[in-house]
Amino acid sequence: MNHPTARCGALVLAVLLAASLVGCGHRGQLLHRTASAPPTPGKQDRETASALPRVAAPKAAPCRLRSTDKGPTDLAEGPTDFTTAIRPQGKVKALMIFVDFPDAPATENVQQRYDTYAPAQDWYRTASYNRLDLRLDPVLRWVRMPKPSTAYGMKRGYSAETQARYIHDAVAAAKAADPSIDLAAHPMVDIVATLNTKAIDTGATAAYAGDPITVGDAQVRHAATFFGDDNELKYRVVAHETGHLFGLPDLYAESSDGSGNGKYVGEYDIMGQEVGAQPDFFAWHKQKLGWIAPEQIDCVTAPGTTEHRISPVETADGTKMAVITTGPNKAVAVEVRAKKGVDHDACRTGLLVYSVDTTTPMGQGPIRILGPRTPGADPCSAAPTLDTKPSSPQQYKDAATGTTITVRNENQDGSYNVTVTKT
Ligand SMILES: [Zn+2]
Repeated sequence: MNHPTARCGALVLAVLLAASLVGCGHRGQLLHRTASAPPTPGKQDRETASALPRVAAPKAAPCRLRSTDKGPTDLAEGPTDFTTAIRPQGKVKALMIFVDFPDAPATENVQQRYDTYAPAQDWYRTASYNRLDLRLDPVLRWVRMPKPSTAYGMKRGYSAETQARYIHDAVAAAKAADPSIDLAAHPMVDIVATLNTKAIDTGATAAYAGDPITVGDAQVRHAATFFGDDNELKYRVVAHETGHLFGLPDLYAESSDGSGNGKYVGEYDIMGQEVGAQPDFFAWHKQKLGWIAPEQIDCVTAPGTTEHRISPVETADGTKMAVITTGPNKAVAVEVRAKKGVDHDACRTGLLVYSVDTTTPMGQGPIRILGPRTPGADPCSAAPTLDTKPSSPQQYKDAATGTTITVRNENQDGSYNVTVTKT
C-alpha cells in the first residue's frame, strides 16, 4: 500500500515539486482514555500595544474551548489531559531501541540511524522556547526480535493490541540484551526497525498510548514505532509521533492515497506535514503543550472591535495569538509567522488565521487555515498569510462567523498590529 511515510522520504526539494503531498502523519493510538478534563476557565487578557486604542478590551474569559462530551476527547484540540498524555516540560527522556528480525537482520550502522533521529531534540528545544528538553537515549546495538518480521502483523490499520505485542517483544528483547536499561527513567520508548524489514511498511509508524504494557517488573505507557526508509528529515517523524504522545492530533486529512495532505493546514505545524517548510506548531498547539502562558493570549469573547499586538509564534515573548471564540467548541485564532527558529525555511510570513473546532476528530480538520487558497499550486502559496505587503492594510472576513481581521502594520520587532471585529 502506498503510504504517506514512503513519500515522507522526499526532501524539501520534492515538496516543492509535488502538488499534493502527504502529511506523513500517523495514527496516535490512544485507547481506554479517561474522560476529558472539565473546561478550564480563566484565560486572561493580556495588555496589547499601548499605542493602540482599545475600542473594546478583551475580557478575561474561557478562551480554552471545551472538549466535547461525545466524540474526540483524546487527540483533539480541547484541553490536553495530562493524566494520559506526557507533559512536555523540562527533561523528558525517551529510550530509543533499534530492532531487527530473524528474517531481516540489520546491515545498517546503528549510530548512523540514531544520528538521523537525534536532531528531534534540538527541534523541540527550539519549538518549545527551551521549555522542553527531550532526550533520546539510544541503546546503540541491534536487538533481535524473537519472531520474524512477518509474524507481527504491523500493517497500517493494525490494532493497538497488535502494536502492543510488537512493543512488548522489542522492549523485552532490549532488556534481555542490556539489563542496565532503566525503563522507569524513560516515560516513552521509541522503537526503530531495521530498513531491511520489507514485511512491514512505513505506514506502521505510529504512536502508542494505550493500555500499559508490562515488561518484567516495569510498564511501558507511551511508545512510538518507526519503520521505513531513511532521509535527512527523518527526525521530524520522531517529532511528529512524539507530538501525539504529548496529546496532539494529526492535522492532515485522512485519505487512503495521501491526497488529503496539505488540505487543511498546508505546510504549517509538524502535526500537519512533517516535511513542510513551516513546521513550527500553531500557537494553539503551543498553548495546549503549556509553552504559551495564558497571559500571552488575547481572548475575544464579546462582540466589538479590539486591537492586538501579536508577535511571531517562533519567538518566546509577547502575545502569541488572539483567540476569537465563535461557540463553546469553536474559535478563530490569529497568529504571526516569521522566518525564524524551526521555521527557518519559511516561505510565507505574516498573519495566519485559522479555525479551531474541538468536536472535529483528527484527520477531519480540527484546525483549518482560513482565507483564499490555491489547491495544487506551490505548497507555500496553498496556505495563505495576511501581510502588510504589498498593499496595506489587508483584511480577511470569515463569512461563517462574521469575524473580520485587519492587519494594520508590522512593527520593527516583527510583531503585527491587528484589528479584530467580532459580530
Ligand atoms: Zn500522526
